[in-house]
Amino acid sequence: MQRFVCDGCGKEMKRNDTRYQVKIDVRVAKGDLEFSLMDLLRDHKKELEDLVKRLEDKDPKKIEETIYKGFELDLCPKCQRAYIRDPLRFHPEQGLPDAGIDIDEFLRSLGGDADDTEPEA
Ligand SMILES: [Zn+2]
Repeated sequence: MQRFVCDGCGKEMKRNDTRYQVKIDVRVAKGDLEFSLMDLLRDHKKELEDLVKRLEDKDPKKIEETIYKGFELDLCPKCQRAYIRDPLRFHPEQGLPDAGIDIDEFLRSLGGDADDTEPEA
């Protein structure tokens, strides 16, 4: 049976437990990306050669991470509440107390299929 572990607190979650997925994209956003006619007419060969020389000794993974890095997290409901409250300072110890809301019951009331009664393996 597929199990998930909360990336916040480490709690194990079964396939049918309510969990939250967090997808984080960290990508470079460099200022001005407009090109002028002068940019198109410029000889780029020397610039490219210099760039290749500068990158030769660098770790490809580090170069990639300066441009883009993606994260995917699974969170239990308690960690999800703490996370959305303050994503940049999220730490599981700050987890909010149980809100007393049965999320499965709530989803059932909406007609979702949170109540998947498939027996556990
Ligand atoms: Zn958690």
